[in-house]
Amino acid sequence: MAGRTGVHRKAYGYEWDGVEKLPYKEDGRALFKSITRQTLFSDPDLDGELRYFEVAPGGFSTLERHEHMHAVLILRGRGRCLVGNEVQTIETRDLITVPALTWHQFRASEGEPLGFLCMVNAKRDKPQLPTEEELARLKADPGIASFLGSEAKHSTA
Ligand code: MN
Repeated sequence: MAGRTGVHRKAYGYEWDGVEKLPYKEDGRALFKSITRQTLFSDPDLDGELRYFEVAPGGFSTLERHEHMHAVLILRGRGRCLVGNEVQTIETRDLITVPALTWHQFRASEGEPLGFLCMVNAKRDKPQLPTEEELARLKADPGIASFLGSEAKHSTA
C-alpha cells in the first residue's frame, strides 16, 4: 500500500510505485476468476481503505455479501454487475453503491480488463457466501441465473 506521506506516481498501466499487486483473496473458499488487488490507501488514521481491483477479460469477483458496504468507481473497461436483485451493465466512470448485506458480483466483458476502485471500511466483517438455498433463490430470477452462469458456487462452510 502507499506509505503514510508523499506522492506515489502511477507506474506502467494501472499500477502505482510502491503499491504491491496481490492475489484477490488469500483463502480458497470462494469462487472467483482472474483478479488482482492493490491496496492504494490504508492508514491507522483513516477509517476507510481504497483498493484497486482488476478483473481480466471474462473474469469475475466472488458472489458475496457482508455488513460493510462498498463504494465503487469503474476506472477501466466494462462489464456487468449484480447488486441485490439487479443485473446492470457497467462501464468506465460509472459509480456503484453496494449496500450492507446485499449480494454482489462484478464480471468483466470478454474484450478488456475491468478495473475499479473500491472504498470500504478499514474495520469490516468477513464476506458471506451464498448457501445452496440462497443461490437457488437468486437463480429463480432468469436474468440473475444467466448472469451467474454455471460457475456460481454455494458456501461449503
Ligand atoms: Mn464485497
